[in-house]
Amino acid sequence: MKLFSKNHYQQKLNALVADEEKWNQFQNACILVVFGFTSLLMSVVNLFTHQGSFTWITLGFSLACLIDLLLLRKKGTIAKVALAIFAVEVTAVFIYFIVSGIPDGFSVLWTAMVPCFGLLMYGIRNGTILSLIMFLMLVFFFWTPVGNDLLQYTYNATFKMRFPLLYLAFFVVAVIMEKMRDTAHAALKESQKKYEFLCYHDALTGLYNRFWLQTILAHPENKQLKPAAVAVLDIDNFKFINDNFGHPNGDIVICQLGQTIVDTMNGSGELCRWGGDEFLILFHTDINAEAVCKRIVDAVCAQEFVFDSERVNTTVTVGLVIAPDGGTNDVDSMIRKADINLYHAKDQGKNCTITSQL
Ligand code: GH3
Ligand code: MG
Repeated sequence: MKLFSKNHYQQKLNALVADEEKWNQFQNACILVVFGFTSLLMSVVNLFTHQGSFTWITLGFSLACLIDLLLLRKKGTIAKVALAIFAVEVTAVFIYFIVSGIPDGFSVLWTAMVPCFGLLMYGIRNGTILSLIMFLMLVFFFWTPVGNDLLQYTYNATFKMRFPLLYLAFFVVAVIMEKMRDTAHAALKESQKKYEFLCYHDALTGLYNRFWLQTILAHPENKQLKPAAVAVLDIDNFKFINDNFGHPNGDIVICQLGQTIVDTMNGSGELCRWGGDEFLILFHTDINAEAVCKRIVDAVCAQEFVFDSERVNTTVTVGLVIAPDGGTNDVDSMIRKADINLYHAKDQGKNCTITSQL
């Protein structure tokens, strides 16, 4: 079993999407609350102004909003169904508003809200469909003889001619706003991805950095992660390379050895640059870590660099600690013990691995 079943970015992205879902849910809930509350308020106004059956319609709609709100809390498919039901309810109620015109032709004005909340709740594609359905309803009732005959309220001709055009203007503005919101959101996500890369990766090697490991370990979801082994690796006599061939060549050594370690590990664990000339490996639970470490020591020893026409070889020393029972979540103790083993290995002449059990 792998410690990190998916690429770290993928996990982060999933977390982002999850947050986005939460955010959308919150947004939709706010709209339902506004509609439910306004409709309830209107019911009270309708009651006091004696609007008859209209009172029951608005009261029923506020109740429907409340039920949709409760369904929305269930998330997943139920939440999607709740949103679809709300679209049908709002379309039906607004058609009733157009036809009845109660009071004094006022309620049709509510339809102008469809583009703004429709695009926000259902996104550009579905919001546009909902908005255009409402537009077609207005056109049908206001601009066609059959629709006109169905109206129970006598709107004046100017209103009937101009209102659908006003609705269209609202729709266009809503689309522009939604597109701009979408673009800004995509840019924000992109910069968040970049920020996360910079945050969790070492600028020199492109490997994960120490902060990445600390974050992984601090994350509650990863508390159950049980590495089978932890290795701390330190390049031997690295100061010699820096002093004799310069810092830039030292950087090349760190980078290339990082790549050698990755290649030799062959996916058996997660590697990060622990700092300076040190690397750290968290081994997955089904891996012979000692054999991998020995292969790394050999691979590094066999690697040759040429600086100023001079052949340079370097070695690496490894402190390895194996967890009891195939894994432990006490990673801090593992790292401490691996560091002690590294220290002993350096003392014993370097270019080797010292292994112990936790
Ligand atoms: P030892 O065998 O005991 O590990 O000796 P060492 O010479 O490797 O000494 P040590 O590990 O203590 O020193 C690491 C050196 O790595 C010290 C520091 O100047 C250098 N260093 C740290 N980060 C970088 C870096 O990013 N680039 C380069 N070129 N050098 C670095
Ligand atoms: Mg060193």
